[in-house]
Amino acid sequence: MSGTNQRIDGRRLWDSLMEMAQIGATPKGGVRRLALSDVDRAGRDRFRALCEQAGLSVRVDALGNMFARRPGRDPNRLPVLFGSHLDSQPSGGKFDGALGVIAGLEAMRTLNDLGITTEAPLELVNWTDEEGSRFGKSLMGSGVWAGIYDQAETEALADLEGNTVGASLDAIGYRGPEPARAFPADAYFELHIEQGPILEREKKQIGIVTGGQAQVWYDAAATGQDSHAGTTPPSTRRDALVCAARVIDLVDRIMRARGEDGRGTVGQLVVVPNSRNVVPGEVRFSVEFRHPDPAEVDRIAAEFTPHAQALARECGVELSLAELFRIPAQPFDPACVDLVRQAASRLGYSAREIVSGAGHDAVYVAQHVPTAMIFTPCKDGLSHNEAESIEPGEAEAGAQVLFEAVLARANRALA
Ligand SMILES: [Zn+2]
Repeated sequence: MSGTNQRIDGRRLWDSLMEMAQIGATPKGGVRRLALSDVDRAGRDRFRALCEQAGLSVRVDALGNMFARRPGRDPNRLPVLFGSHLDSQPSGGKFDGALGVIAGLEAMRTLNDLGITTEAPLELVNWTDEEGSRFGKSLMGSGVWAGIYDQAETEALADLEGNTVGASLDAIGYRGPEPARAFPADAYFELHIEQGPILEREKKQIGIVTGGQAQVWYDAAATGQDSHAGTTPPSTRRDALVCAARVIDLVDRIMRARGEDGRGTVGQLVVVPNSRNVVPGEVRFSVEFRHPDPAEVDRIAAEFTPHAQALARECGVELSLAELFRIPAQPFDPACVDLVRQAASRLGYSAREIVSGAGHDAVYVAQHVPTAMIFTPCKDGLSHNEAESIEPGEAEAGAQVLFEAVLARANRALA
């Protein structure tokens, strides 16, 4: 068990975060480090150099996922993994992903300073393309690693210029020789900014993340009839946009009926023909619901479909609702979550349990490896934004909890 006298170096952590933020820095104080771009290569090269300076040996797998290993005392023990991602949104912030990777590096450096050899080996991970903003598939590296995405299909995905994932990996020199496949590991820990307002609002330093929430996604298409805006009386209109508007309102009402835990969003809408003097005959839109409780997501789905169909009938519109997927909540491993809870408590940090609203690499890794996450607050809950901001003390607290949870797991007594 580690004691609270083993402290990471908050200043060194912050300096390294600011150094990484220089790579792809934007004029408004954010970062643009798109996955598998030349800027991503520069970030990866820098990360690799810093790892090697810390005595770690770096492997790269076929999807460009990077693993920086520090040996343990017991060669038979499985590695304890921790990390996050270094890619960013096109106008992203300095901390989304980078915090977890650089805090992991700081944990390795602290172990070096303290002369500690852990029982289990440690591996710091930089997952490829968490954001999905270039090739359209988020959690790409961890998704292939976890066997959720097919590797060949993923390598064939192309960006808007027609560059494929495979060609881009080759272009930046990060298609590694290791298979991109889950290997046995003892645990995975990921520190990440919350990307939401809860910790800041409640003045909590640490979020003990208990899992990811359940989701159901739909592609919706409302089909009515195009007609003249000036000559079509109400009785003969089949207005697909009015139908979509009522369904959007239904999504919002279903969400709000669940209180603060509900999520329901229509974020995409395509109106055809999209002309100001035509009653729109076709609207395609997205619908998604999320909730921490998978049973509640099932109830939402059972409620949403018939109500939406009833609204469509009132509009004289055909509504097709294709359910794209329904994913159960991904609970994290209770023993790993407890190590985060214990570390926060021992360090005297204010903390609360929280369910992750966003997707994270940890949610996919958790399908194979006992996993937990640590959240830290971010200013105004803002992320995927160049103004994304955290305080040095918040980064330090999160990194200290990560360090202690990893150390406790790597040195735990095996039954
Ligand atoms: Zn992220």
